[in-house]
Amino acid sequence: MRACSEDVGGVSLGLMVRWFCGSLTPMQDYDVIIIGAGHNGLTCAAYLGMAGIKVKVVERRAIVGGAAVTEEFFPGFRNSIAAYTVSLLHPRIIAELRLAEHGLKIVERRAQNFVPALDGRYLLAAEGATAGNVAALSRADGERYDAFNRGLDASADLLRELILQAPPNLRRGVSRESLRELIKLARFSNRIRRLSTQSLSTMLDLFFKSAGDYLDGWFEGDLVKALFGFDAIVGNYVSPYAPGSAYVLLHHAFGEVNGKKRTWGHAIGGMGAITQAMARVATSCGVEIETEAPVREVLVEKGRATGVVLGSGRVIRAAAVAANVDPKRLYTALVPAGALDAAFLRRMRAWRCGSGTFRMNVALSELPSFAARPGRAPQDHRSPGIILAPSLAYMERAFWDARVLGWSRAPIIEMVIPSTLDDTLAPRGAHVASLFCQHVAPELPDGSSWDERREQVADLMVETVERFAPGFAGSVVGRQALTPLDLERVFGLTGGDIFHGALSLDQLFWARPALGYADYRSPLRGLYHCGSGAHPGGGVTGAPGHNAARAIIVDWRKGRWSR
Ligand SMILES: Cc1cc2nc3c(=O)[nH]c(=O)nc-3n(C[C@H](O)[C@H](O)[C@H](O)COP(=O)(O)OP(=O)(O)OC[C@H]3O[C@@H](n4cnc5c(N)ncnc54)[C@H](O)[C@@H]3O)c2cc1C
Repeated sequence: MRACSEDVGGVSLGLMVRWFCGSLTPMQDYDVIIIGAGHNGLTCAAYLGMAGIKVKVVERRAIVGGAAVTEEFFPGFRNSIAAYTVSLLHPRIIAELRLAEHGLKIVERRAQNFVPALDGRYLLAAEGATAGNVAALSRADGERYDAFNRGLDASADLLRELILQAPPNLRRGVSRESLRELIKLARFSNRIRRLSTQSLSTMLDLFFKSAGDYLDGWFEGDLVKALFGFDAIVGNYVSPYAPGSAYVLLHHAFGEVNGKKRTWGHAIGGMGAITQAMARVATSCGVEIETEAPVREVLVEKGRATGVVLGSGRVIRAAAVAANVDPKRLYTALVPAGALDAAFLRRMRAWRCGSGTFRMNVALSELPSFAARPGRAPQDHRSPGIILAPSLAYMERAFWDARVLGWSRAPIIEMVIPSTLDDTLAPRGAHVASLFCQHVAPELPDGSSWDERREQVADLMVETVERFAPGFAGSVVGRQALTPLDLERVFGLTGGDIFHGALSLDQLFWARPALGYADYRSPLRGLYHCGSGAHPGGGVTGAPGHNAARAIIVDWRKGRWSR
């Protein structure tokens, strides 16, 4: 299969937009309105702007970027307050939007991960050293480590091929479009047929099995299983032994940094540097971006999206509308219910949103010192993702605790200290850390509000880090705690879902967001999905925005919604 079989005439979207540049005529207030200036809305806007399409982006917050922003959370301390680490952002998008020329610089972490245990052991995953470090804990695991990675890489390569194209869109009936989708499905099947039996078997495991079962089948050591198991429960409010959780591990494996696959890095200046660069590209192509402009309703006339109504009551008309908001919010809050088919609306009401994430930003007077590897000098083990969850059993307990109590008595935390790589974030000598805490209930089981529990749970998170790094609590000079409710309020993420909807097979590929609408189009003519609720799902990838722009440009060329 070609890397991007949807490319028109075999050329990239970048080339395609150049063909169209200047050739399109604006027909309404705007050709396209984009609801939301998250990184996908901005990516979509930039590609459309490059095509000469007249675009307006309306964003409810005062700043652009959605969950990929850098903000001052405590006087003198800035951080990527939500998304905090880069890998999934597609290199083609970085190149085609010329983000580096617009100021984006991404650096690798000095080591990838550090997994300390409470009994003094630890695992450091760093280029060229991980296999040896795994072997030091278990010889058998060390011997299997490379084979495990080859299997993961083969499946990640396949996924990578699918990222920048719409999945086969399963539709009933016979038409030119349904035939085209069948051909696409056949090409996809043929690509799978070419996999070796071993790779196919690994792929099936990664799509259908639980991460726990998959990892137990490979390794005996708890720390190596925790290293990979964490990726399976990131934003995925399930036990690591829930079937399908291995897919989320794979989802976190298709990225790269500066050409190095499955590597994570840091954007200098924080995640906001990515979205600020995107906004600069978009505006340089004529895109208008208006902030503090929440959309109250999508205008629908004769089954077609014709604009938006803002919270202020102002109406903005356009030939088409692209929604960067999650599908549940779009169809249950913004599109009039009467405009939708009952079955479609039922699916959207039942769309699973709620990733069980609690996010903290902390200002530190000094770097932490871990009991498992003491020392305060800026060593390798403090620049990576520090996983405080030393076994799959620990992660499973965290999930069941959260189901019953609302949060885990021993929560799962990934700590990243970006100031070890970037001196623009904290005052000299001080540091900032992201605490990405997993497995809190999106809604508390006792019916209380997260507003009543925020500080109590924030204290628990700090105490949890303290258990691994004695002295940490005393070094915290300021903090920001974002509960699932805050993630919804601040970023507009329904249920605080970091992915705009669970990454489970019933909500992925041709079913994201619904069967028949996996091609970024929707039941309403002129309404498109350009956010993470569309394929390939959440994470700072830029892919839904890129792919939606392609669909919009194709429709524009065919005059599907022009007056
Ligand atoms: C706490 C957290 C940590 C994460 N960590 C990482 C990470 O380290 N790496 C990674 O790759 N991914 C991470 N993610 C996931 C990733 O950030 C998201 O999946 C991704 O940013 C979603 O991008 P998006 O553009 O599709 O949507 P969003 O970023 O959600 O943007 C949607 C935009 O729409 C706006 N909006 C909503 N409603 C309206 C309305 N009515 N009118 C106008 N505008 C509206 C919102 O304000 C927002 O700006 C994290 C997410 C969170 C929340």
